[in-house]
Amino acid sequence: MLNKVLIANRGEIALRILRACRELGIQTVAVHSTADRDLKHVRLADESVCIGGPKSQESYLNVPALIAAAEVTDAMAIHPGYGFLSENADFAERVEQSGFIFIGPTADNIRLMGDKVTAKATMRKAKVPCVPGSEGALDNDADTNLALAREVGYPVIIKAAGGGGGRGMRVVHTEAALLHAIEMTRSEAQAAFNNPEVYMEKFLEHPRHIEIQVLCDTHGNALYLGERDCSMQRRHQKIIEEAPAPGVTAEQRAEIGAVCVAACKQMGYRGAGTFEFLYENGQFYFIEMNTRLQVEHTITEMITGIDLVKQQLRIAAGLPIEFTQKQIKLNGHAIECRINAEDPATFIPSPGKITNLHMPGGLGVRIDSHIYNGYSVPPHYDSMIGKLITHAESREQAIRRMAGALDEMMIDGIKTNIPLHRDLMRDTAFIAGGTDIHYLHHKLGLG
Ligand code: ADP
Repeated sequence: MLNKVLIANRGEIALRILRACRELGIQTVAVHSTADRDLKHVRLADESVCIGGPKSQESYLNVPALIAAAEVTDAMAIHPGYGFLSENADFAERVEQSGFIFIGPTADNIRLMGDKVTAKATMRKAKVPCVPGSEGALDNDADTNLALAREVGYPVIIKAAGGGGGRGMRVVHTEAALLHAIEMTRSEAQAAFNNPEVYMEKFLEHPRHIEIQVLCDTHGNALYLGERDCSMQRRHQKIIEEAPAPGVTAEQRAEIGAVCVAACKQMGYRGAGTFEFLYENGQFYFIEMNTRLQVEHTITEMITGIDLVKQQLRIAAGLPIEFTQKQIKLNGHAIECRINAEDPATFIPSPGKITNLHMPGGLGVRIDSHIYNGYSVPPHYDSMIGKLITHAESREQAIRRMAGALDEMMIDGIKTNIPLHRDLMRDTAFIAGGTDIHYLHHKLGLG
């Protein structure tokens, strides 16, 4: 096993990783910015190192400081969490070149999936169903692009190969707007991602977002752990996730799962990963692969009983996965609400001191959060301050349990989106299940 892991992240995920390390008897090193001295996991870690100023560039994205921290503490491996450097192939490479284990896929895996054009080409080759569109990057020929869009059918979406976080995309409804949109997306992509490549897809009008969790070891084993429905989004940011996805049958799950597993084997994937799909009229369409642990991994853990972070640590240590596909049984239903420090109506971040805190509890209630009474949420980072997860035998019971837990939860001193979650747990369309990715936008009266 690994003997010491440096956690290159902050907040709830750093605490989540620390907990898994402790259970496996692995020593932990916390790194933190000057604004994060009071983080819960920093207090609990065996060692901690301050790596720079409050700005992420100075600390959590500061590669030399992270490598130096691993060196001085004699860590064996680095867990990047999610966000920050977790999908940065150059970082993964630097970690391994410096003699540490990167707890995640190979730099080649990350690079291949980080460019959406090469990712889609890889998936097509592996027979993963993709959104219809251009075979690869668009060239500069106007006639070719006009003909292609006509064949795909409007509306189409122009997407940047290097895009991420919902940026670098433009929907085109008419032929008259196509060429200008391609040019605009290209120049924005060059400026934002230093890569002018763009590609075209059919724009699906009412899709749901459904993703498949995979786990691969270095002994040739690759497994899928069911799906998650993450359609409840605002500006491409997931707010509520659930597993399994309402309406997806066991046959569909087995079919798409097998396709993902085959793709992993074909590309020699290592570790945990997620295939993201748009789902419309019973069909899956691949959009991208996330080569890391995801925020919403918790709901998969609840329905499978498998600790994904422990599995990541074991895989990084070179151990084989100790269960088979057949042994993975989905049990009940799980829902996750992302709790953000923000105004529930305007979504403006609301950092500040938590003056009174009461967390819910009871059977099937899980909280992954680093906050505590008196903790000050700093203004420098993502506004997510925790995740509330419920698990029950049925979807209906999981929703009721969530509604009750949200009613119990009290976070004073800052604004949170708890009122929005309370409202959604009583929303008839959500309760019915299967709302699309635009549902929340419409519900909020934004269009
Ligand atoms: P990012 O890496 O920026 O998250 P994705 O490719 O995952 O980019 O797309 C982000 C979101 O954009 C999707 O969840 C979906 O809401 C929307 N989107 C992307 N491609 C399409 C498409 N072909 N049709 C409809 N919506 C799309």
